[in-house]
Amino acid sequence: MLDNRIIQNLIKIVGDENVATDNASLLSYSYDATPNFQSWPDVVVSPKTTEEIAEIVKLCASHNIPLIPRGSGTNLSAGTTPLYGGIILLMKHLDKILEIDEANLTVTTQPGVITLSLMEAVEAKGLFYPPDPSSMKISQIGGNINENSGGLRGLKYGVTRDYVLGLEFVTPSGNIVRTGGKLAKDVAGYDLTGLMVGSEGTLGVITEATLKLLPKPDTKKTLLALFTDIDAAAETVSKIIENRIIPATLEFLDRATLQAVEEYAKAGLPTHVEAVLLIEQDGKSEQVESDIEQILILCREQGAVEVRVAKTVEEAEQLTTARRAALSALARIKPTTILEDATVPRSEVARMVKAINIIADQFQVDICTFGHAGDGNLHPTCLTDARNKEEMQRVEQAFEAIFKKAVDLGGTITGEHGVGAMKAPYLHLKAGKHGVTTMKAIKQAFDPQNIMNPGKLFSDSDRKRVVISKT
Ligand SMILES: Cc1cc2nc3c(=O)[nH]c(=O)nc-3n(C[C@H](O)[C@H](O)[C@H](O)COP(=O)(O)OP(=O)(O)OC[C@H]3O[C@@H](n4cnc5c(N)ncnc54)[C@H](O)[C@@H]3O)c2cc1C
Repeated sequence: MLDNRIIQNLIKIVGDENVATDNASLLSYSYDATPNFQSWPDVVVSPKTTEEIAEIVKLCASHNIPLIPRGSGTNLSAGTTPLYGGIILLMKHLDKILEIDEANLTVTTQPGVITLSLMEAVEAKGLFYPPDPSSMKISQIGGNINENSGGLRGLKYGVTRDYVLGLEFVTPSGNIVRTGGKLAKDVAGYDLTGLMVGSEGTLGVITEATLKLLPKPDTKKTLLALFTDIDAAAETVSKIIENRIIPATLEFLDRATLQAVEEYAKAGLPTHVEAVLLIEQDGKSEQVESDIEQILILCREQGAVEVRVAKTVEEAEQLTTARRAALSALARIKPTTILEDATVPRSEVARMVKAINIIADQFQVDICTFGHAGDGNLHPTCLTDARNKEEMQRVEQAFEAIFKKAVDLGGTITGEHGVGAMKAPYLHLKAGKHGVTTMKAIKQAFDPQNIMNPGKLFSDSDRKRVVISKT
């Protein structure tokens, strides 16, 4: 519970209308998209400017108050749950695109802009911002930067990190720092921009970003390849890339996911096969035609039982939209849906998918798998019920086994969803003891009082799902 004098100070900084302490607001911001994690903030604050944010941070620093920056709350790692109470800092007023610079091919934006709105604004000028998380209709650019989000186009175009050229951020002591800019090159000192990307709100508050843009591809084409054998599908992914074709999208869905997605999206997806690859290529028309032709041949050579090329842009859009809906589709089946993102080198995708199935059997839990096969970024998704404590224990054990397997295969515990509170107990599996110590030293140097998003990234306890009732 915060002292009333702190609330009055917050009101002085941002105005009465931007400070909420009512139960409905506190409840709304006690959880994010992560299932079964909840803890209550003391207050929800919506600043309008960087200067107001700096004032709020200084107030937090002088009274040791936890500060949790929050975009749209779509993260899947409990990254915005206020584990120790404190202030939820909303970005909803920082929602302006400040400049689209067509000479430098950059966009400068505030963090609260919705990802899709930014994409559409630059596309209207013939430009292209590639990072496309499936949540792009809701997520904010600030959230994408802090999670270093990826998407369906990651294989060819990379992830958010590859597009962040410069940032403005408020440090945990309330100073305003600017890094990078509209620059293709900048090696002046440590790469603070790179450090802030993926920092999950633990090192400061990002208040502005300059992002790289590309020319918009002329055209794109989409195909679906159907397989009765998971190995053949995975082998096809490697073959396509071995043949020096880098598709814009190379997605994998297993049978259970296909069935759920088709039931939900009615996109005409097949439900009788073991695996489907959704492949998209974009670029100059001639190149796209030739790549798609070659991919089609490779899919058939690898044993695809059917290959369908979308005939129209609408049909192609319907297929990718259906894929983006995978989580929503699966979430309808059971009360609790836990979506993970264990990631392996591309060459290990088949082995990882099989291992996930074996682990699911071993722990007697329902796991569907889909994901960005071209990136090796798989989403084993468990359909369960958080009220069944015994089953939840088996789910936790299954996921631990999955993370260990991914790391054994040269992969990682998370390819795009971040660590947050959810995966903090597993960080050492990937980063190692000394890696974690080095990360903690960075956190300590930035934020010695640990006010920025405490309880995220680092944990000494086992994975746990926190439900804290309001007293
Ligand atoms: C249906 C669905 C599909 C998804 N698909 C994908 C996908 O394809 N790829 C992918 O990578 N992720 C995906 N996600 C996860 C999630 O959408 C992304 O991590 C997204 O980037 C989060 O954005 P957000 O605005 O919701 O951020 P939030 O969830 O609000 O915050 C995420 C993190 O960023 C911090 N943060 C937010 N804004 C700031 C700021 N201005 N300054 C400092 N810290 C800040 C928060 O403290 C938190 O740690 C999906 C989620 C859902 C629910």
